[in-house]
Amino acid sequence: MLTIAVSKGRIYEEALPFLEEAGITPIDDPKTCRKLILQTSRDDVQLVIIRATDVPTFVEYGAADLGIAGKDVLLEHGAESLYEPLDLKIACCRLMTAAPKDAPDISGRIRVATKYVKTAQRYFAGRGIQAEIIKLYGSMELAPLVGLADCIVDLVDTGNTLKANGLEPRDLIMNISSRLVVNKAAMKMKHQAIQSLLDQFEKTLAER
Ligand code: AMP
Repeated sequence: MLTIAVSKGRIYEEALPFLEEAGITPIDDPKTCRKLILQTSRDDVQLVIIRATDVPTFVEYGAADLGIAGKDVLLEHGAESLYEPLDLKIACCRLMTAAPKDAPDISGRIRVATKYVKTAQRYFAGRGIQAEIIKLYGSMELAPLVGLADCIVDLVDTGNTLKANGLEPRDLIMNISSRLVVNKAAMKMKHQAIQSLLDQFEKTLAER
């Protein structure tokens, strides 16, 4: 049995059609069913649908053999303990800094609200900018509006969320897409099964 951990939410919405094209269809409808482990049309493959930030942890510890997670989450987790063989080119967006519209750049120490603490630290340190990083778990856009931070680091897709809150995108930190990750031990112990799945995924990607 191979277990694939898939991030809930936006990634799942795009991962499901990809998996279906690769011949893996959940038997229960994940929208109506509350099961956390989904059997699929392939009796040797099951899915676990979990929070995005938990995917690297499940795969690292071998609770799942493979996972589908955003590059943003992998960067923040530190993915040295995982293989990352494929860019699935789904759930594409940009990790960016954003600030109130027309606000002048701040010289000196800035306050940054984000859930990507390590990535933001690395980014500002790399540019020689002194930044105090404030960890938030959601609604980052609110932070500059209430004086908690000067700017935020968050994912931007259409830019509508920023705009609706009077913010504007500033600097691109990285283009983001979802990646397939594989547990290192499983890659050795279940080599044939995993390799044939990787071959299938590569073929599906090429046909898209
Ligand atoms: P948008 O308004 O289209 O720019 O989307 C921005 C909001 O959606 C922010 O709250 C982001 O954190 C979230 N978001 C955008 N793209 C993704 C993605 N690929 N994965 C997860 N969250 C995303």
